[in-house]
Amino acid sequence: MKAVVFEDVGRPGIHDRAVPSFAPDEVLVRVAATGICGTDRAILLGEYPARRGVVLGHEAVGAVAGAGAGVGSVAPGDRVVINPTYHCDRCRLCRRGLPAHCGAKAGREVGVDRDGTMADYAVVPERFVHRLPASVSYRRGALVEPLACVLNNLAAARPRWDDRVLVVGAGPIGALCALVLARRGARVTLAERDQGRVALARLLLPRAVRVLTAEEAAGAGRPDVAIDTTGALPGDVLGAMADGGTVVVMGEKEAGVATVPLRSLVTRGIRLVGAGPYRPADFALAVDLARELPLEDLVTHVLPLERYAEALAMLAVAPAAPATGGYSAMKVLLTTDEGVAP
Ligand SMILES: [Zn+2]
Ligand SMILES: [Zn+2]
Repeated sequence: MKAVVFEDVGRPGIHDRAVPSFAPDEVLVRVAATGICGTDRAILLGEYPARRGVVLGHEAVGAVAGAGAGVGSVAPGDRVVINPTYHCDRCRLCRRGLPAHCGAKAGREVGVDRDGTMADYAVVPERFVHRLPASVSYRRGALVEPLACVLNNLAAARPRWDDRVLVVGAGPIGALCALVLARRGARVTLAERDQGRVALARLLLPRAVRVLTAEEAAGAGRPDVAIDTTGALPGDVLGAMADGGTVVVMGEKEAGVATVPLRSLVTRGIRLVGAGPYRPADFALAVDLARELPLEDLVTHVLPLERYAEALAMLAVAPAAPATGGYSAMKVLLTTDEGVAP
């Protein structure tokens, strides 16, 4: 089978690999599509550690092609989405209800140190495979995993009905945050520095979302909740918060550092929180909500697996990227299935 492999920093490559074998409690998935994530991007830029030689990708949908003897919940032919956040259920953190922070992750991070889904096939333990509702296309289902992440982080803000919400960064995660918030009637502003992404967000998101440049957002009133999806928490965000507000840091950058005026946390009652990846219940909720959320609206490009270099260039990763380093895409999917319409 074909697979997109992390050879080294700045060097993805397409390799011929054997179709992986599977254990009695595992499922072989014929991958239909994999979304390219900020994590894949960070791995290739050398900003996120990963095992050399690993197959990249973790946001995947496909059809069950084979199932181990002990598998009962899915059968060959079923359309599924993969939950790539494996956990052991045995370590202290899992037992404390924090499986997303499982202490036994080494060798179990899909597309990081365990072979991922940018390939014709992937093997997944049965309990991390979810059947897709009949009404959810592959194109939509490919965004279930980032949606789960968004749901967990929005919940961490403990949102209220009358919140004014600022989402910082209009990449796929910021855009998903805005989509979900707009759907539940929140007053949401999306702030973005990159002109290309401002234009894309205005085009793709519902009218209820105010999409502003970073300068415009600075004068747009005090938010009660801010979600930073950039990992670079702009210093002015904390100062701009309404009293009693909550800032959720969602983006991650290895070198991301912020200087926080501690007194403002005390005197103004500002909460600064991190939530990290989702719990299994968030993933199940994301599968369910995908029935009604038009997630595919954020997919701007679908390319065959072989054209991975072109796809990465659209996300300002490859040497082939324009010198400006700008973004010309929102969510990009790599596909091995002609049925996933371009
Ligand atoms: Zn991801
Ligand atoms: Zn664990």
